[in-house]
Amino acid sequence: MLIYQGYWCFNGFNYITAIIIKLLPQPNYFIVYLCHSFLETDNNYMTMKIENDFNDYEAIGDDHIGSSSDTPLRPDAFELSNADKIESIKGDVKHILETLGLDLNDDSLKGTPNRVAKMFVNEIFGGLNPDKKPSASTFDNKYKYGEMLVEKNITVYSTCEHHLLPIVGRAHIAYISNGTVVGLSKMNRIVDYYAKRPQVQERLTIQIVRELQEVLGTEDVACIIDAKHLCVNSRGIRDIESSTVTSEFGGKFKENTKRRELLDYIQLDTQF
Ligand SMILES: [Zn+2]
Repeated sequence: MLIYQGYWCFNGFNYITAIIIKLLPQPNYFIVYLCHSFLETDNNYMTMKIENDFNDYEAIGDDHIGSSSDTPLRPDAFELSNADKIESIKGDVKHILETLGLDLNDDSLKGTPNRVAKMFVNEIFGGLNPDKKPSASTFDNKYKYGEMLVEKNITVYSTCEHHLLPIVGRAHIAYISNGTVVGLSKMNRIVDYYAKRPQVQERLTIQIVRELQEVLGTEDVACIIDAKHLCVNSRGIRDIESSTVTSEFGGKFKENTKRRELLDYIQLDTQF
């Protein structure tokens, strides 16, 4: 709409159209288009709108802004079998490499499309499949441990959904039991499950906390992730030193004392 508002200053008819658009509860670009055609003012509007949207998406992607806390999956996401997905992606990767001018008859490249397709489906994006979700086994807190439990330095390997480049870092998770506990490795598995998707770090942090809150039946869960994004470190601004920290504090972790206690534990220099 910004382009449009900039444009109406030059034409009185556009001003009338702008008022009509502003009265619509949701901008309806079909109506906008009709208004334009009727008033014979701006036949280029749709083109401008599309270009504007495209530039917005480019900017959102390069700035790593996510759209929702749920992974945006299509309803038909699991209609194809994994084998069919691998076969299809294999053809797509082959097409990309050939478009780049590479000779796929070369022994070194021959197996790449198949390798990449298998890696996408079974490994780095394997966490899209709900069947891979770690089982929700919990235990009673028999020893009545009432303080926070912190699992720190959990390795995170994920993939930036804007550039499909690796995100590598550490997650620190904490919870305060209200009667239920989970096995320690369970937290690593939850991190790994949600990390194995095209991700934005903020969403990954929220998804981990939500999952543990559900499994443990308590709001008192926190997660902090410190990670390097190769799309920032190896391309674009190419800043090898920077890393991104995200956090989600639920329940008692919203209190300053609990939050500080957690941060102190994370900073402990554990030696073996
Ligand atoms: Zn990125």
